[in-house]
Parts: sequence; C-alpha cells; structure tokens
Amino acid sequence: MLHLSSRPDPANPMPYFPIFLDLRGRTVLLAGGGEAAASKARLLARAGADILLVAPSLCEEMAELLETGVIRRREKAFRPDLLDGAIIAIDGSGDPDLTDRIRSAAFSRNVPVNVVDVPEQCDFTVPAILDRSPVIVAVSTGGGAPALARNIRQRLEAAIPAGYAGLAKAAANARASVRDALSTTRDRQRFWDRVLSGTLAERLMAMEGDAAVTEIEAELSRFIAGGRDAGGSVILVGAGPGDPGLLTLHAARAIGSADIILHDALVPDSILSLARRETRLVSVGKRAGCRSVPQEFTNRLMAACARKGMRVVRLKGGDPFIFGRAGEEAEFLRDRGVSVTAIPGITAAMGAAAQLGLPLTHRGVARSMRVVTAHCRTSGETDAIDWVKLADPGTTLALYMGRDRLGEISASLIAAGLPPDTPAALVANACRPDAEVRFAAIKDLPNAPALTDQGAPSLILVGDAVAHAPGWAVADVARISAA
Ligand code: SAH
Repeated sequence: MLHLSSRPDPANPMPYFPIFLDLRGRTVLLAGGGEAAASKARLLARAGADILLVAPSLCEEMAELLETGVIRRREKAFRPDLLDGAIIAIDGSGDPDLTDRIRSAAFSRNVPVNVVDVPEQCDFTVPAILDRSPVIVAVSTGGGAPALARNIRQRLEAAIPAGYAGLAKAAANARASVRDALSTTRDRQRFWDRVLSGTLAERLMAMEGDAAVTEIEAELSRFIAGGRDAGGSVILVGAGPGDPGLLTLHAARAIGSADIILHDALVPDSILSLARRETRLVSVGKRAGCRSVPQEFTNRLMAACARKGMRVVRLKGGDPFIFGRAGEEAEFLRDRGVSVTAIPGITAAMGAAAQLGLPLTHRGVARSMRVVTAHCRTSGETDAIDWVKLADPGTTLALYMGRDRLGEISASLIAAGLPPDTPAALVANACRPDAEVRFAAIKDLPNAPALTDQGAPSLILVGDAVAHAPGWAVADVARISAA
C-alpha cells in the first residue's frame, strides 16, 4: 500500500500534481495534423472538449475527425490570439519553431501547455489512462518512462475489470437510498464494503443498468432486516501450488476482500500477504505428522463467521476440490443454510508438470492422466488401493501424499504389471522458490538421492510422458540406473 506523506520533502518534490479536469464544452487548442495529434484529438473528444485544431495539413484520420464534426474548427496557421479563452493547449506538431511560439503565447495568457513526447517543455503531462468511466485511473511516471506507465495500466486493467464501470454507475444511482436508509457512516461503510467486494460485486458487474441498482437496494433491505447477521458467505478458494502468479484473478480478489481467511499450512506468506491488513488469518493447516486442527472446528468456525455476516475465505493449496476436503466442508455449510461457492486453483500436478515442461498427456504416449492419493483416511483404505487399475502404461499417474511410501508404491506398481523402467519423477515444493525434482525409472525411484527438504509437499508423476520432460535426460537418471 502506498501512503503519501503529508509532509513536503523539498529535496524530492512530487513531480506533478494530479488533477482531473472537466473539459466539457471548454476550448482546447490542439496543434498538428499528424497521427500523434489525432490520438490526442480522440482522447479530448472523449472528454467532451471543444477542439480548436491548428494544422497546415491533415493526416487521413484527422481529416475524418474534422469532417465528422468531432473537431469544431480548424486554422491552418497559428496566431497567439487563438489561445484566448483556451483552457489548455496540446502541441503535437513536432515543429520546434511552432512549439516556441505556442509556449510563449500560452505563458503570457497562463494557459498550460503539453508538448507531445517532450516532457521538458510540458506544463502538464497526459497520463496513461484506464477508462472505466465514471472510474478513471491515471498513471504517471513523471513523464520519463511512458512505457512503464502503460505497463502499470495493463496490470490495472486486469485488476479492475470492465464491469467496474457498471458497478460504479449502479453505486452512484443507489447512493441516495443508502444514505437515507443508513444513518451512520460506519453502517454505510460496512454496507458498501459488502456490496463492492466478493461474490455480490461479481454478480453486479454482470448486470445491466437498473438491474444492478435494484439488486443493491434488495441487499440494502437484507442488510437492514438482518443487521450484522446478513449476507455472510464462504468461498472455497484454490491458492494453487505456491506461486502467487498462479492464482486466478477471482482468487486474488476473494483474498483481497475477505474478512477472515482460514488457510492450510500449504499456503505461503507471499499469497497471504495479498489480504488486507484488517483481515483475520487463521491457520487450520494439517501437515503429515503434525498435530492438526480438527475438521469439525474448521467447519464450525466457517459457519459461525458467515452467520455473523463475514466474508469467509477458506483458502486451500492447489485446487479446493482435489484432496482438499472442500466437498465435505461445502456439504457441512450447505446443510446449515450457509451460502458457499468455490473458485478453482491450479492443482499441484499441473503446476509441477508446467514447471518441468512435462506433458501430462502426450499423443501416442499418454492418453489420460489420473490424480490419485497414495495415503487414505485409514490404513485399511490405503492397503486397499487397487494397484492393478493404476498400473496402466498409457496413463500418467499423479500420486499425491506418497513421499513417505516410495518403496511400497514402486513395488506395488511393478507387482501389478507396470514395466519397471517406466519413467517417474518425485517433485517437491513445485512452483515454489525451493522446488526440487528427482527423475528415475519407477524401480529406482526409492533409491534416488534424498530431497533436501524431507518435509516438503511432494508428489510423484509416473508414466512414459515423464521422459518427455527436458530434465529426464540428466545425469541423475543415468547414475541411479547404473547403480
Ligand atoms: N488441493 C491440493 C492437494 C492437497 S493434498 C492440490 O490440488 O494440489 C496435499 C498434497 O498435495 C501434498 O502432500 C502433495 O502431495 C501435494 N502438493 C501440494 N502442493 C504441492 C507442491 N507445491 N509441490 C508438490 N506437491 C504438492
């Protein structure tokens, strides 16, 4: 979060003062008839400016803008009096002599000037703009690095979807009713927080015009009727294998708008840090061999917080519905009338495969993939795994939670008929900074050099497709096979 210091630092002044200027019906002098000026003309027209163009000749686009009336008036040559009554001037002529004349005439009339692409000669710069009118985000890098400003704008485009425009309009139209209905600022803030984030916001963004206002007013009635108890929900969110870059945009938004996050031990700090400062973070993690929070406690806590009107995020490594107990949690919540939705995540096997460049399916090699747990709820269930069904040479097996049973897994698959030379990989901490991999034929995998982090989340990929990972050909494999 960026906080602007209120105390001025004379050695390091803010290079520009950002303002949003109302140009509707105001005269803007625009110099130049080429592409650069035409792109400014389009922007000025969008803001409703009355454009006075000064240009000896016109490019095709500019001629069209003039013909269609987007540009009101054109003069072939500049005269200082053309600046009388102008609110700003933009010089896109690229003609240094003309620039000098415009700047001196503008200076004596107090008209601020922008000279396109010449920051040293500008009184003001035109920022990179993200237009979700009425929401407008303007980005400046002090005029020095317009490419960086554009890059920042692209990131904002992803964070502020086009639907925000409709959301902002609906919020503005519903503002008066909310102000009338809720007397305290705190209540109004709580209400808008609820409306503008989470699943309701996603729904509103997809609505047209009045429908969104009606929905906001319906939420207002629910808010008033249920007070603090209204509108809570649980979102089961997949955090992916560990790299924050592998979160979905929906997941990142849900994390950023949660009141409370109940997270697994697998979710790294780099992802938890996307939460707001006020968000309560509760670790309900289970790691093999460690004492864990009872599932019943997690279930009850989620239900209780949702009933209090909180936005609850249940954040799980990988995908919530793959070995994540999300199915049980969703049933528990649904049975108690708590609204629950899910956001998918990239499961560990897919993250690992991408990192290793390993095709999980490959034409003529692997027609299917299977996601399997090598560790069930009870040892009886674990013993009952049907290895014969799994020992299919045309399939890529992704075995989760099997690191401590490598010997058994290898022996069972071979006994069930899988060729002992079938390629395999043990991948630990996939998509994290400390990722590690051991490649070996399935018969040799139990004797592969130990992992550095013996407690790391690890999975085993087995199948001929594994040999298509570029790392398969490394020394490790040869050494282990020869031993
Ligand atoms: N829902 C998760 C799986 C949870 S079960 C998912 O979809 O990925 C936990 C198991 O997932 C771990 O024991 C390990 O086998 C696997 N796992 C999770 N993250 C991993 C990672 N970054 N690298 C390797 N394996 C991982």
